[in-house]
Amino acid sequence: MRAQCPRCHCVVAQAKNCEGPNFCPQCHKLFRVREPKTPAWVLGVVTILIANWQILCHR
Ligand SMILES: [Zn+2]
Repeated sequence: MRAQCPRCHCVVAQAKNCEGPNFCPQCHKLFRVREPKTPAWVLGVVTILIANWQILCHR
């Protein structure tokens, strides 16, 4: 995974650091990368799958 600088939108070649700040060589600034959170629909699908699985097992 590569990080993208939010200021100049250049892709930073170094490995993405999700815990701490990343350094952009283009604008010489540190920036943080935010991991996208799990979307709500994924949780909904998982809930439906678990519900179906439980229905099948309790037949
Ligand atoms: Zn930059």
